[in-house]
Amino acid sequence: MTTQEQHDPVGWEYSPAPEQIKVHIEPKNKLFINGAFVSPKSRSWFSTINPSNEQKLADIACAGKADVNNAVLAAKKALPKWSKMCGSVRAKYLYRIARRIQERARELAILETMDGGKPIKESRDVDIPLAAQHFFYYAGWADKLEYAFPGRSISPVGVCAQIIPWNFPLLMAAWKLAPALACGNTCILKPAETTSLTALRLAEIIQEVGLPEGVVNIVTGAGDTGKILAEHKTVNKVAFTGSTEVGKLLMRSTAGSGKKLTLELGGKSANIIFADAAIDQAVEGIISGIYFNQGHVCCAGSRLFVEESIVSEVIQKLKHRLQSLRVGDPLDKNTDLGAINSKAQLKTVQQYIRTGVDEGAEFHEVHQDRLPSKGYWCNPCFFTEVQPSHTIAREEIFGPVLSVMTFRTPQEALTRANNSPYGLAAGIWTDKGSKIFEMAKQIDAGVVWCNTYNKFDAASPFGGFKESGFGREGGMQGLRPYIRLQNTSGRMK
Ligand code: NAP
Ligand code: MG
Repeated sequence: MTTQEQHDPVGWEYSPAPEQIKVHIEPKNKLFINGAFVSPKSRSWFSTINPSNEQKLADIACAGKADVNNAVLAAKKALPKWSKMCGSVRAKYLYRIARRIQERARELAILETMDGGKPIKESRDVDIPLAAQHFFYYAGWADKLEYAFPGRSISPVGVCAQIIPWNFPLLMAAWKLAPALACGNTCILKPAETTSLTALRLAEIIQEVGLPEGVVNIVTGAGDTGKILAEHKTVNKVAFTGSTEVGKLLMRSTAGSGKKLTLELGGKSANIIFADAAIDQAVEGIISGIYFNQGHVCCAGSRLFVEESIVSEVIQKLKHRLQSLRVGDPLDKNTDLGAINSKAQLKTVQQYIRTGVDEGAEFHEVHQDRLPSKGYWCNPCFFTEVQPSHTIAREEIFGPVLSVMTFRTPQEALTRANNSPYGLAAGIWTDKGSKIFEMAKQIDAGVVWCNTYNKFDAASPFGGFKESGFGREGGMQGLRPYIRLQNTSGRMK
């Protein structure tokens, strides 16, 4: 075996292709309240790091009670004018934001990758274009709301508190802000502690396009900031994406308050491969299902169900394909898997892997010898001999760890897929359209992909069943959480 083959058993080796542009990052990043960047009244700051080298990138303001209060009051003050503005004028602002995201796409992609650890090819080709697409899409709805809800009179919900996670930072901001603004609401956005930088660039864009002061406010901070925001009395709606655990806390804290609530939570999605599927394509679907964004995807296809007669073929092909995945510097354009987002998340993933081994499942991983010495890394891996009772088959890992199980009949696949407290997404791989329709109808999941996986579009609604949450984001359905409807008798809904 040559040295090159030893290094890369599939026989491919690329030269490094790092992104060359240097993005300037302010050493101190303030809060965005009432159209201006302001120092936190809390006088508190925290640092954000690059998880691929553990280097500090910047200090970020930590919003306390007084800061959150100012942001909420700014949103309340801005509401009457913004909500009464003609829809086509609101649309113009959204189009401008979309276009500025496109114009600043490279900067945003680099920043997203540095702050969060995801490969540049994903932030460049998925996160940022989709964020722009969401603003374009909802700009299109802003002056057509009466066609979305014919015969009803429409009003915005009011002041919206929007809390987002770290796995798709700018994209989640776009998912929350674009429909809310299109419907005439004003917003306070709370990004995740480890990934605030692109949300703050979005604040710059919001300034550049001249969005009226207070319509969007961005308060950075940790979980406490989110809690203060969600519990603020003036907030009319809470929109949350994150863990089921925090989602349950928010349900309790908003209960009886009259606040509207939507929750996009965790998942343990089933990817089901039938023996009649195109196997090579299905293997690509497994890869994009679980290893995309290091498995930091709420709808990751983390439970793989393979029809028993083809399991050895699928596993052999999966192992081969894993050898060609490149883990490493997220800013390298050839990288497939970047860094795990934080030390805490890496510990969680490693603990799940240990539990999987301890409970008796068989662990498979392809060692990568090119991993940098610093940073938070996890090789893409999978388990076989997994029982439905195993922790790794039941709980969300949120990392590049796949649990492979088998089935003999479509009914068995269905029963096992639905045997989960979650219901966010599912994948079905088969040559038979009838099988697709039969299965898709009966799977408890908000999204069912057929002969593909992890495909997103602004026009397509996304959201969960069961403990994966409620409410939809994207599509016409994504407008509904941000409006109040009045029927002919004048009763609000
Ligand atoms: P998380 O801990 O629930 O955090 C989500 C957001 O909530 C962050 O901004 C977080 O702030 C904030 N937060 C934490 N505690 C809070 C509290 N008590 N009150 C209000 N806000 C609070 O989740 P995560 O670990 O960041 O994200 C991973 C989870 O999100 C996974 O379970 C994943 O499945 C889910 N997710 C779901 C979707 C979906 O669309 N269904 C999409 C993406 C992610 P800090 O981070 O600053 O602490
Ligand atoms: Mg960071």
